[in-house]
Amino acid sequence: MNVVAVLTAAGSGSRLGHALPKALVPVRGEPLVVHAARRLLAATDADGPLVGLLVVTAPAEHVAAFAAALDVLPCRVRTAPVDGGAPDPADGPTVVVVPGGATRQASVAAGLAAAPDGPVSDVVLVHDAARPFVPPELVARVVAAVRRGHAAVVPGLAVTDTIKRVGTGDGAADPVVGTVDRTELRAVQTPQGFTAALLRRAHDEAARHADDETLAATDDAGLVERLGLPVWVVPGDERAAKITTARDLRVAELLGDA
Ligand code: C5P
Repeated sequence: MNVVAVLTAAGSGSRLGHALPKALVPVRGEPLVVHAARRLLAATDADGPLVGLLVVTAPAEHVAAFAAALDVLPCRVRTAPVDGGAPDPADGPTVVVVPGGATRQASVAAGLAAAPDGPVSDVVLVHDAARPFVPPELVARVVAAVRRGHAAVVPGLAVTDTIKRVGTGDGAADPVVGTVDRTELRAVQTPQGFTAALLRRAHDEAARHADDETLAATDDAGLVERLGLPVWVVPGDERAAKITTARDLRVAELLGDA
């Protein structure tokens, strides 16, 4: 149970066209954030459940609403950072809801700041609530790869579309500059997994860019790449698809975990 998971859920979800913050939008009867949290907490290995502490980043004005939504989970839900050391794993998992930041990167940093430092967690996962139907097996696969010695791990899927690089167009159409060899491309998902020390270092070194949407990283592995350190890809899963648009939401409503 010594995995810490940061669940990013502080986005507004303006592309979804919904009045609620995106992670509170219901699909199949439950908010996205509850689905995602449930599946992170369900991940196991031979020794039992993996995630002992789940830190959820919520829009600052909705922290209480997120805590209330997450209260359906079989664990303690709090709205203050864990101090005085790690929660006792014997008590079962703890969920802590904290205010996120201006960008996803800033939200992850806020989530890390709310988790106790030190040897309590060997692996930290970062997962997007926008991927509510992540299979627990995928979560376990990422953790296992980190524990096998890969300090930064992302799930990725082969790309099936042909991808073209384009230049600046004339307003009506853009000129093709080249075709990218898709055999060497992967569409990267979450959860991404890291040794706790590496993820903290990557965020510390990038902190000055965290509040600038044009410079902040869109994923955590990108921060490790900026350090010049290796990132490894394990097989992803279509069920961990990201919900961005209203159409994605309708597809998720139809398919759920399928
Ligand atoms: O905006 P995007 O789809 O890239 O967001 C990915 C994830 O990051 C979502 O789960 C969203 O809630 C989260 N996020 C966040 N804080 C922000 C912006 C996005 O936690 N400021």
